[in-house]
Amino acid sequence: MKGYAMLKIGESGWIEKDRPKCGPMDAICRPLAVAICTSDVHTLWEGAIGDRHNMILGHEGCAEVVEVGELVRDFKPGDRVLVPAITPDWNSLEAQAGYSMHSGGMLAGWKFSNFKDGVFSEYFHVNDADGNLALLPDNINVVDACMLSDMVPTGFHGVELADVQFGDSVLVVGIGPVGLMSVAGANMRGASRIIAVGTRPVCVEAAKGYGATDFVSYKNGPIYQQVLDMTNGKGVDKIVIAGGGVETFAEAVKCLKPGGKIGNVNYLGSGDNIDIPRVEWGVGMGHKQINGGLMPGGRLRMEKLGALVSAGKLDLSPLSTHVFEGWDHLEEALFLMRDKPADLIKPVVKF
Ligand code: NDP
Ligand code: ZN
Repeated sequence: MKGYAMLKIGESGWIEKDRPKCGPMDAICRPLAVAICTSDVHTLWEGAIGDRHNMILGHEGCAEVVEVGELVRDFKPGDRVLVPAITPDWNSLEAQAGYSMHSGGMLAGWKFSNFKDGVFSEYFHVNDADGNLALLPDNINVVDACMLSDMVPTGFHGVELADVQFGDSVLVVGIGPVGLMSVAGANMRGASRIIAVGTRPVCVEAAKGYGATDFVSYKNGPIYQQVLDMTNGKGVDKIVIAGGGVETFAEAVKCLKPGGKIGNVNYLGSGDNIDIPRVEWGVGMGHKQINGGLMPGGRLRMEKLGALVSAGKLDLSPLSTHVFEGWDHLEEALFLMRDKPADLIKPVVKF
């Protein structure tokens, strides 16, 4: 089979590999559509998770099941399925402890395009099919379905990590597709004011639609200063970080109220340390929590988030700004995600 792979850091291309083998609890799937993630960019061009050789990229897509193992109960060949980017081993101790995303070791629930071949391939392998796949509802199209792999669950996990409650003022740093879903998630959880940080006009427009009430540009000086100015020096209740870099945490701590919580889902692709400002962190006693996490993955979450879209409560159509048809366009889509032109939110390739 053909797959589009990271050959080494900074180099990618099509390669030929054997079709993966299906274990007793697994499924082999054929993509119906795939989306490119900023994480693919970090992995391939920044080497953020280390070097990988001939590893097929991609972890966002929806698919048709072509084969299942003999212990799989709920899926059969021909089923159209949602596929989470994170596919934990649900019988691991980490999953039993509530940290499915770290099943088998830190971040090890993230298998596609991390330490096994991903979904940019004619066929891909899904471990623990009953625990990880979900049936694709009939009224969700394959392009929107790709947003359910990673953008929705990750953006929403940022909101969970920040513990957004009714009436909270929330700062969302970064309004790419992940941050946009954090805006949408914060809005659904009852946030009052939602201040969004980002500049691409297409993202700003989408953020308004998802519930952002105010905007800050990181290009107009420090974010914290602008947020403090907008909030009479008080700052915000909660912060979701879905953009920026290691330096963003200091800014966030500076404009977070005591007792506030930061939820980070940004993938820090470079930098060695994160500085926490001593004084603004209440000299160690400010009750300002910093949580960072990979989204949990798995079937239940896919079913629930899919149900939100299916019921018309979450419109994903603004996210997919560039939709292509056919494998020939995959590389173009990947390079678009790297270059982030002003009119791009998310590129999708359907088949
Ligand atoms: P994008 O690059 O599309 O969006 C990044 C956003 O951050 C943009 O709004 C951008 O603004 C803004 N930004 C850029 N520089 C700064 C800065 N210095 N300070 C503040 N904001 C800034 O990314 P995605 O939405 O696709 O992904 C966001 C992050 O989430 C990525 O790092 C990605 O790898 C990670 N991720 C994490 C996952 C997880 O499970 N934890 C899963 C998937 C993704 P502008 O409008 O100017 O471009
Ligand atoms: Zn992703």
